[in-house]
Amino acid sequence: MPSELYDVIIIGAGVVGSLIARALARYEARILLLDKASDVGEGTTKANTAIVHAGYDAKPGSLKAKLNVAGNALFDQVCGELDVAFERCGTYVVATSPEETATLHTLYERGRENGVPGLHLLSAEEMRRREPAITPHVAGALWAETGGIVDPFALCYAAAENAVTNGVRLLLETEAIGWLKEDHRIAGVITNRGLFRGRWFVIAAGLWADDLLHRAGLDGFAITPRKGEYFVLDREAAQQVRSVLFPCPTPISKGILVTRTIHGNVMLGPNAQDVTDKEDLRTTPEGLEEVMTGALKLVPGLERRHIIRTFAGLRATGNTGDFYIAQPPEAPGLIVLAGIESPGLTASPAIAEYVVEMLREAGLRLAERRDYNPIRKGTPRFADLSDAEREALIAQDPRWGRIICRCEMVTEAEVVAACHAPIPARTYDALKRRTRIGTGRCQGGFDTPLVLNIMARELGLSPLEITQKGGASRMVVRHTKDPLQGKEGER
Ligand SMILES: Cc1cc2nc3c(=O)[nH]c(=O)nc-3n(C[C@H](O)[C@H](O)[C@H](O)COP(=O)(O)OP(=O)(O)OC[C@H]3O[C@@H](n4cnc5c(N)ncnc54)[C@H](O)[C@@H]3O)c2cc1C
Repeated sequence: MPSELYDVIIIGAGVVGSLIARALARYEARILLLDKASDVGEGTTKANTAIVHAGYDAKPGSLKAKLNVAGNALFDQVCGELDVAFERCGTYVVATSPEETATLHTLYERGRENGVPGLHLLSAEEMRRREPAITPHVAGALWAETGGIVDPFALCYAAAENAVTNGVRLLLETEAIGWLKEDHRIAGVITNRGLFRGRWFVIAAGLWADDLLHRAGLDGFAITPRKGEYFVLDREAAQQVRSVLFPCPTPISKGILVTRTIHGNVMLGPNAQDVTDKEDLRTTPEGLEEVMTGALKLVPGLERRHIIRTFAGLRATGNTGDFYIAQPPEAPGLIVLAGIESPGLTASPAIAEYVVEMLREAGLRLAERRDYNPIRKGTPRFADLSDAEREALIAQDPRWGRIICRCEMVTEAEVVAACHAPIPARTYDALKRRTRIGTGRCQGGFDTPLVLNIMARELGLSPLEITQKGGASRMVVRHTKDPLQGKEGER
């Protein structure tokens, strides 16, 4: 049974845990990042709206408001250092009736109170000029200059990758199932891979944070999964949507929005429905109809023929109405992050710095490392390169000239690079998140067999061993035909 002593053990490698790991990697400290899933970012981080919120939504004085605004301000630097796609394109809240324009004023005032720069109230006419496909019922809008769109998966794996290359140990498929207490202090985390001892334990476990708290004997905090469903539309639909269009918010959500994504698609959603199962990521016909109805209220010309995918995400809605980031006195040694629902992605870089300061104040010695490197360079995306850049890469390595995914123009070289990255893509979904393979119009219909063969070759596995997302989720289950012998059946 392993029992190394770490200074900090972070449970959960979503965007929050990964950025905390990266922030701590700056210091001379032994850090362990663990996650029960087969890849980083498999929780809420993989299924959200990907908006970098400006910060006018949260209640003034709340931790959400403070960390949203602070997190937003860090995005240029963090995404620049980590080579993550981010665009500060601005976001709009659209009023569709004269009554709703009062809400715009409330949001504007709240934003100013929260310290959000660059807020503007726009006339209906100005909004029509900026977004010609907007509903004819537009009555005005709030424009937040600092809002943006980002690739949330990339932010997560790039942060985790940078943490790992700076000495953080990452263990996947490692589930925290209990705690070791010694002298009334948490002294170890018990996992399916054994015990890991540490001085500090950061719970960044998203939907399961309350479960881990209960296991430490703390019952006050509860998380309700709140489902949000989405449509992803083909790039053709992007001709109608230039930026990020929110409706006026409801008491439980920011409403169903219409947004361009950082990769040029259009996304519609999410709705908001409380559920009981923390793994229930199914979409429902009723939920999707609600999303389409909401989206059409903002952009009536959206066409269903452009839909290429649906998906759902689960918000980790806590029972305090705010982010809960604390050191519970009943369990010394623990730092808990719970209820990190929206704007958790936006806040994540600021949450990371906040946690580092908590640890410092709690007595963790944090001496800066001389060799810390905050820069991480991703693999170039063939689809984004100029002809000259493409030719130069192909001349170096012909695999840059072999297009595997036609819709997203992903090359064999990109697949190979992802399989050998500091955190290798070992599952189909991990590869998809890193390269965009299978995310286009055909949704992997043409290229999946080819992709599985390349993954198998690079990872030293049989195609039968490649899973979608670890565990029993095998992509193929048996051979049906031997092309040389013409035989059918299992081998
Ligand atoms: C529908 C929806 C829309 C959203 N839109 C936005 C948006 O536009 N902008 C924004 O800023 N925010 C948005 N959010 C919120 C944002 O997605 C989350 O705040 C953020 O992803 C939370 O990240 P996390 O790392 O805390 O959680 P997660 O990504 O869920 O990570 C938690 C990790 O902990 C692991 N884990 C759990 N239990 C254990 C265990 N026992 N042992 C080991 N590992 C464990 C999980 O496998 C998981 O990887 C949205 C959320 C949803 C659901």
